[in-house]
Amino acid sequence: MKPVLLVTGASRGIGAATAVLAAQQGWRVAVNYSTNRAAADSVVQQITQAGREALAIQADVGDEAQVLAMFQRIDSHWGRLDGLVNNAGVVDMPARVDEMTVARLERMFRLNIIASFVCAREAVRRMSTRHGHRGGVIVNLSSAASRIGGSGQYVDYAASKGAIDTLTKGLALEVAGEGIRVNQVSPGIIDTEIHASGGNPGRAQAVGPSLPLKRPGSAQEVAQAILWLLSPASSYTTGTNIDVTGGR
Ligand code: NAP
Repeated sequence: MKPVLLVTGASRGIGAATAVLAAQQGWRVAVNYSTNRAAADSVVQQITQAGREALAIQADVGDEAQVLAMFQRIDSHWGRLDGLVNNAGVVDMPARVDEMTVARLERMFRLNIIASFVCAREAVRRMSTRHGHRGGVIVNLSSAASRIGGSGQYVDYAASKGAIDTLTKGLALEVAGEGIRVNQVSPGIIDTEIHASGGNPGRAQAVGPSLPLKRPGSAQEVAQAILWLLSPASSYTTGTNIDVTGGR
């Protein structure tokens, strides 16, 4: 039976590219989305038209009840889980720390930190040999921002990704003896719609030429790193990070 992978936030950008590439490489893929059903359906269609299996599942990863329902849907549809890509993530409008509201901080940390913890928890419960399962693999999406800091723009986002760095390391060690590897990818400036949602749709193209490799990265280039970490080719790698930053 082919392994089953959940990719959160897979209706567009890095998540969509990861879902499509994973299906090409033999995974059955749960394509999670929050609001854009048409986009998630088109990712599923792209996969199924190529003769592979995929399922769109709506869930706001910031809502525990919806996350539980999403995992239960995978249980009932496929009866197994072998991998999780904690990809869903948000930015906010540029702001200094001395301008940030608690509402903004709570949304940022709920969607970028707590959601990844809750999805990881549910995945471990379904994959760990400690819970009677066959093992599995988790890949988290951090960001170069966690090391750069996001000053004047989004220190909250950068800090949320710092928490992901720690989740990756700590969880990897916690479940290393239970058949589960946990790693992360830290993208730099990648050409996706996330920049528009942060109020700067032209950011990737504007910043690209100033980067060491002289251009922004693509979602596919990030997906390639994620798929390596998901695959048995990385079987002796856990608790680590791959920068996909064009040298930044
Ligand atoms: P994106 O283009 O903005 O796509 C975000 C995806 O997440 C969409 O599919 C969106 O689906 C989904 N999503 C948003 N809120 C959600 C929620 N509450 N529940 C479930 N899904 C939700 O983002 P991206 O650029 O591909 O980024 C993917 C990941 O890489 C994020 O963790 C991001 O922080 C990280 N990253 C990106 C860059 C970059 O330059 N692009 C750099 C570093 C790190 P709906 O629209 O359907 O809600």
